[in-house]
Parts: sequence; C-alpha cells; structure tokens
Amino acid sequence: MQEELIAPCGMNCRLCVAYQYNQMDLNKHGFHRTYCPGCIPRGKNCLHMADACEKLAAGAVRFCFECDDFPCKRLKRLDKRYRTKYHMSMIENLESIRDNGLDAFLFEQGEKWKCPECGGVICCHNGLCLACDLDTLIYNRKYRWGEQ
Ligand code: SF4
Ligand code: SF4
Ligand SMILES: [Zn+2]
Repeated sequence: MQEELIAPCGMNCRLCVAYQYNQMDLNKHGFHRTYCPGCIPRGKNCLHMADACEKLAAGAVRFCFECDDFPCKRLKRLDKRYRTKYHMSMIENLESIRDNGLDAFLFEQGEKWKCPECGGVICCHNGLCLACDLDTLIYNRKYRWGEQ
C-alpha cells in the first residue's frame, strides 16, 4: 500500500473500484467505468465525493484529522455510507493514522484487504479481487459484497 493513495478524507484509493479499473485497464472487458489514478495523484476532487470540502480542495490539510471541524458532518455522512455499504470507515482509518502513524496503517491495510488467492488487493466497492473474480462482475455488473 502506498502513502500517496491514502486520501485526505481517509479513503484508501488502492481499494477503490475507479482506481483498480484504471490500474488493470478493465474497460477492455466491455465495462464503461470512469478511471481514477487516486485522490492525490489525480490532483482534484474525488469522483465519489461530489460535495467535497473547500479545505480539501485547497489542499489546506493532508488529513482531515488536522482540521478543527474533524469529524465534520460531511465526513460523517460519507463514513456512514462506506461503513454500511463498503465494509470500511474513513473516520476509523483517520484515527488509526493519527494514533499509530501512517506506516502501521499501510501495513494493516495490506493485510486486511489481501486476496487469499493471489495476494492482490480486494476492492471495497464490491468485495472482489478483480484479478481473480472479474467473471462475477462480468456476469452481474451491480454485484456488491454478495448482494444481488
Ligand atoms: S474515485 Fe475517489 S476514492 Fe476512488 S481512486 Fe479516485 S479519488 Fe480515490
Ligand atoms: S471540513 Fe470536514 S472534510 Fe473538510 S477538512 Fe475538515 S474534516 Fe475534512
Ligand atoms: Zn486475487
């Protein structure tokens, strides 16, 4: 896991469907997903955070926990959506980075999201390793964490 793929909001872009599609060029399999190189490499707001904050847009903080308003309403809303649908929490990620440091966080993320088959990285948006389980998405493009 790379430091530059940890977004200011606590998202790990390495787990993101837009990042993984870009990395593996999966649209060649007939998908039409927007590709993203990750929040920091992209240099502008995240595709999934339409209502991104002015402080983040201005690059005023590296991580939201440096902000006086942390955790703000917007971040709590995003966090709730991700905890409910995508098995992760931006706020937990940020607290872990703040309390234990980035290196420990990156290591822990690598272990937590490792594909047991190939050692690749599971995608948080669908719960699949896109190297091993792409057929599941080809068969059902809306597949998410075992739901129909
Ligand atoms: S869409 Fe957002 S979460 Fe996904 S890689 Fe891009 S910046 Fe990161
Ligand atoms: S206002 Fe919210 S989203 Fe913006 S930097 Fe502060 S905690 Fe992060
Ligand atoms: Zn795999």
